[in-house]
Amino acid sequence: MEANEPKEPKEPKEPKAYAGEGITVTYDAGRCLHAARCVGGLPEVFDTGRRPWIQPDGAAPERVAEVVRRCPSGALQYRTATGPAEEGDRPATVVRSPLGQLFLRGELSVTTASGEVRRETRAVLCACGVSGNQPYCDHSGSCGKE
Ligand code: SF4
Repeated sequence: MEANEPKEPKEPKEPKAYAGEGITVTYDAGRCLHAARCVGGLPEVFDTGRRPWIQPDGAAPERVAEVVRRCPSGALQYRTATGPAEEGDRPATVVRSPLGQLFLRGELSVTTASGEVRRETRAVLCACGVSGNQPYCDHSGSCGKE
């Protein structure tokens, strides 16, 4: 297959949930950019050398939520029993990376390849058309290579 040939669409997997006392963090590995904002921001909670690698009770729920919101791809999301849902940035922003990916933040409505409409607050979208996880970047094409 050529480097920038579209990949066969993958069946999206459900994000994995990591439940804590005050906050549940979900992780969608297919969208992770490995930018390490999580492990760098809160190593007590996010540690890839440990199983499970996310331990939400390692810090206060507000702090966990604050670090999850730094995840540019939306691979990490959270929900709390009592706290408000994450609000998207206002105004919404769209930034093209030097390699071509589109970084979005805001109150987003993203339609997946299967027609599902998702409410999102953070997403990195495929700009080259190669990703097998459309419309999200999955690092398959040249614009996803660091
Ligand atoms: S911050 Fe998000 S995109 Fe970056 S490594 Fe963590 S989960 Fe992956």
